[in-house]
Amino acid sequence: MSMNGVTSPTPSLSKEELARYSRHLLMPEINTEGQRRLKAARVLCIGTGGLGSPAALYLGAAGVGTIGLVDFDEVELSNLQRQLLHGTRDIGRSKLESASDRLRDVNPHVEIEAHDCRFCSENATDLVARYDVVVDGSDNFPTRYLSNDVCVWARKPNVYGSVYRFDGQSTVFAPHLGGPCYRCLFPDPPEPGTVPNCAEAGVLGVLPGIVGLVQATETIKLILGIGDSLVGRLLQFDALKMKFREFNLRRDTQCPVCGDSPTITEPIDYETFCGRVGAEEAKPIRAISVHDLKRKLAQGQSVTLLDVREPFEYEIARIEGSKLIPLSELRERLDELGQEQEIIAMCKSGSRSANAVQLLQKAGFTQSFNLAGGIDAWANEIDPMMEKY
Ligand SMILES: [Zn+2]
Repeated sequence: MSMNGVTSPTPSLSKEELARYSRHLLMPEINTEGQRRLKAARVLCIGTGGLGSPAALYLGAAGVGTIGLVDFDEVELSNLQRQLLHGTRDIGRSKLESASDRLRDVNPHVEIEAHDCRFCSENATDLVARYDVVVDGSDNFPTRYLSNDVCVWARKPNVYGSVYRFDGQSTVFAPHLGGPCYRCLFPDPPEPGTVPNCAEAGVLGVLPGIVGLVQATETIKLILGIGDSLVGRLLQFDALKMKFREFNLRRDTQCPVCGDSPTITEPIDYETFCGRVGAEEAKPIRAISVHDLKRKLAQGQSVTLLDVREPFEYEIARIEGSKLIPLSELRERLDELGQEQEIIAMCKSGSRSANAVQLLQKAGFTQSFNLAGGIDAWANEIDPMMEKY
């Protein structure tokens, strides 16, 4: 065991590998000993999307011996702006297959372990147990809390990254190495619908590249036991200002998972934990499925289809007969809607329109509903000819 807890038996390197890694071997901080450590290391990448792509590509190229990939998604056209593990010809393929092919081409010496599943409470403990370091490239709160908790219990470093529009963050959660965990920073998940994801808010294509490579760098340093890691420090990156800032983080001794008297000691139901509605929250948002909407329209029922996306999105794809009022203008344009009319609000994936329904209900539009899954769900389940973006 090295100082950071990463196991390091030292497999030998072939002639081909010595040549491949020569730029590493030249540096005394790495050398053949470090390169053999990398070869012995096992890293789990949660997700092969924006963050997982650069992380896995560079970890593979650097000679990390075994890379585990967890994903269940398929490659979509709108992924390619930043998820460089996948190419145009991979659209429609499983991300795991596409990622495995690409990584094998980058470095055939890497063992790829593909886990075709959602990282969830049922499998997380077993998966994490098989690896030395976890790179969390997930884009949702339930997965982040889950990977955090399981890594704390297993005493495995959890290399964290997140991106939003032009901003990125990274740190290493590892209470066993002295730092805090994710829950020390964020004891409670945000209210559902209050934090838009990349599909709603957008993200600069290069940004996950930068953050994912910070994660890869930290992973390699942990394996080699060199340098100062991001344990106990949050690195924040602002692409517009081109500035890195850093904050010191401290472990919360009251933390329910890594604190002195932990109260959560095994996986919980993270979807429920992150989906819970706060005490002051108004009544839950009523939703309607795309299938129910299709039925209503087919029966000729009179409903107002309210599209709250931006005009350019409406240009790409819309449901016939829908009325466009972008969410930012809705408050001022309520007089364009009938109070008694049944209103079905929609956006790309259902999060902006949930806010719209909340606003409508407060304003007395009692018959307003959210289209669950939004235009994306309509395109996937009802109208396969619809443009997707
Ligand atoms: Zn903690």
